[in-house]
Parts: sequence; structure tokens; C-alpha cells
Amino acid sequence: MPLSPLEWLTELIPPLRRKRRFLFAFYTAILDKSFPYFHKLSASSKKEFVQRVHHFRKSKNFHFIEMPERDDVSVLVSAAAIQLSFGLPEYLFGFFDDIYIISGAYTYGDSTTPWAGHVNGKGIHVAWDHVLKGYASDSDGYNVGLHEMAHALEYEFAYGEYRYDHERTIRFGAVRRLIAEYVLEQSYHPGAMFSEQGLTNYHECWAESVELFFERPANFQAHYPQLYEGIRRLLNQDPMEWQPAKLPLSKN
Ligand SMILES: [Zn+2]
Repeated sequence: MPLSPLEWLTELIPPLRRKRRFLFAFYTAILDKSFPYFHKLSASSKKEFVQRVHHFRKSKNFHFIEMPERDDVSVLVSAAAIQLSFGLPEYLFGFFDDIYIISGAYTYGDSTTPWAGHVNGKGIHVAWDHVLKGYASDSDGYNVGLHEMAHALEYEFAYGEYRYDHERTIRFGAVRRLIAEYVLEQSYHPGAMFSEQGLTNYHECWAESVELFFERPANFQAHYPQLYEGIRRLLNQDPMEWQPAKLPLSKN
């Protein structure tokens, strides 16, 4: 005798629950071990974070270059996208289907300088050893994962879902103006927070601002309060909230 719809659902739910529990444990173990941002989240936020990482990861094709395919690597690269977008409603970065993970720094095009990552219309590219280096410390202002996802978010505002989000597009435009006014058009750069590359153009300055916002929030806010506030409003999260005390200002 065929099962009624209710019986069918009742049969289906326990395995689905088991699968969900297994997935949550799998992602949590990886994030707990190697993703400092995850430690700062409440228990309910951790659940939400894991779900978002899972959905993001499942929505992309991961290509592993000069390295074996690894689940923990795709989880940790996905986690950077979710950290950046955790205060936002849309987090799938739907403009991109492909993520390329290269074992180490690589050269691209005519450039002879090794790259740690780049983003173009074909996908998001990151050097895995640099991504790991970025996650090793969450207070040195260096995070290739966040940096490249910040570039990817620009594409989302230009061509993806956020192109239709009027309010957030205005906030993104405001950040662009703040970067021009308070960083790129200035001859003095307090705290020497940006690299030479970060001062070359808006795109690099935005990506480095994201790294500083998450990893050196107290210093960044002290030196660039308007820009910090603009990014806080855009991303709808505030790394200062989980800083127990303001860090001393850097001397250089
Ligand atoms: Zn960049």
C-alpha cells in the first residue's frame, strides 16, 4: 500500500535531520579550526553562518589548480564571502559560477609579479597558501579571501542582484566617494594603513578597506571614521562590537 503524504513526510524527516546535523558538524569543525571570525559569533549566528556557507558552496563550481580537490578548502574560501556579506540579505554572489583555487601565488596575463588572487568576469581566483596566511591572524589587516570577495562584491553591485537594490547601491556609492575624499585624494595617509597598491585606485583601496575594517577596526575607525561608518552602514555589521577594548594606535 502506498504511503500517504503525511506518512511519507514522517519517514523522510529523520534522515534529513540527521543529514543536517552531520553537515553542521562538518562545517563547524572546519570553521572552528581555521576561521577566526566564526569564533566571535553567537550560537544562533553560527548556525546561520554555516547554512550560508553551505548554500554558497553548493552554488559554485570549484576548480583546484596544481592541488588536490579538498572539501575544507572550498568551505574556507566560501566562508570569506559569507563573512563579508553576513549582514546582507543576498549572499550567493550569483554573478559568479566559478571559483579557481590555485595552490600558490601565480602570474597572470602579461604580469611577471606573482598574484595572490584576482577577480574578473570569468570567476574568482585565489592562491590557497595566501588565503591560509590571511586566516592565520585576524588582526594583521591581511586577508586575501576577504580582499577578493570585496572585488567580487563590486561585480555584484554592477551586474548581479545588488544592481536592483536601490538603498544599498546608494550606500556603495557613498563608500566610493568617501574613499576618494578621505584616502585617494589625500597626500597624507594616517597610520600608513594602506599599501602602495591600495592607494593606486578605487578598486584596490576598497578591497584593502574591507580587510582593515574587519581585521584592524579600532585603528581604521580612529584614522578614517567617516569611511569606517560608511562601510559599517553598507555591510550592516560592526567588527568594533566584538572588540573588548580599543587597540592602541599604530605608531607608523
Ligand atoms: Zn585587489
